Amino acid sequence: DAEEGPIGETEAVLVSVRVRPPNDAEMRSNQETSVWETPSWDEHSIKLPKGRDGVHQDREWMFDRILPPHTDNLRAYNTSAKAHVRSAMEGFNAVIFAYGQTASGKTFTLTGSPSNPGIIPLSVTDLFAQIRRTPDREFLLRASYLELYNETIIDLLSPSGRELTLSEGKKKGEVVINGLTECAVRTEEDVRGLLRRGEESRKVGQTDWNARSSRSHCVFRITIESRASRGQAEDANIGARTPGGRLKAAGDKTTRISTLSIIDLAGSEKHTSSKERNVEGRHINQSLLTLKLVISKLADMASKRNVTHVPYRDSKLTRLLQPSLSGDALISVICTVSPSALNLSESLSTLSFAQGLK
Ligand code: ADP
Ligand code: MG
Repeated sequence: DAEEGPIGETEAVLVSVRVRPPNDAEMRSNQETSVWETPSWDEHSIKLPKGRDGVHQDREWMFDRILPPHTDNLRAYNTSAKAHVRSAMEGFNAVIFAYGQTASGKTFTLTGSPSNPGIIPLSVTDLFAQIRRTPDREFLLRASYLELYNETIIDLLSPSGRELTLSEGKKKGEVVINGLTECAVRTEEDVRGLLRRGEESRKVGQTDWNARSSRSHCVFRITIESRASRGQAEDANIGARTPGGRLKAAGDKTTRISTLSIIDLAGSEKHTSSKERNVEGRHINQSLLTLKLVISKLADMASKRNVTHVPYRDSKLTRLLQPSLSGDALISVICTVSPSALNLSESLSTLSFAQGLK
């Protein structure tokens, strides 16, 4: 599975590794071999630094994309997310994950900061720009934002921070998140407002917010519905709405619906210490392990290898993502690592997770 897929066109499962710049503590650790040297990688391969204990993984790891420390978020967006966002505009599901140990750069990559927006705000900007460039279609966008903590689903857009349950939908493979708030969004500012609201409700009542945020998965999702604009539609029925307000399926290709999901995963580090944390740790390990299995099965399916069973049901995360991951979904997994030998064993474990995805 070390073979390199076609670069340049987007694969069903795209795996990127992003190495952040060293932080102060890592710089201070002051070992010659403590920080990955920039020349030790090119565009698709990466070598680890020597470990403090002399462990040296002198192998080269190959991935679809390598994003070295000097990479900015815009470049990360262009290489590892843009094709997914564009494809979601065209009616295919797209799912973007950030995976890695705590403090390796997942939230920096996805959320970023006001001066350095990450993949979520860049996607939103791009979506609205694309909509303006597509006058022959009308778009209806809805956003939801949830947190999965200890197998509990929390609606981040509901004022009460409601806990939600999952149930089977009518169609096979359909999963319903009961009562999930979905807000219609018309502008970038609408989405930014929702994101802020979500972040605030994550913090409410959390004394150990940082600790908790590293142990929960956050799922931001935009549902994109589009149809040919009036005048473009050949079918007179297309404008009709069902009583529920959904666009009527016109029976031709003019109505499309898809989702773009962006997921900030729980920290992948090994969990130790207190009993409660061990329960959390088990949930996290189970969901990340299942995620790896599910994605690798989907990669197998995309390359027409025989797949009998995709274990969506083995964790709540994959269960709730099942409708978004199924079908012709494009998947991007951005694995973030620290550049320092201080974190070598976690970085190794992240690289082997990344390698196991296809
Ligand atoms: P995680 O979400 O994986 O726990 P964060 O995204 O919060 O990690 O990153 C930890 C710290 O490192 C933050 O202060 C963040 O600003 C910084 N950081 C992470 N990635 C980068 C990067 N690529 N460039 C600059 N700073 C980064
Ligand atoms: Mg984070």
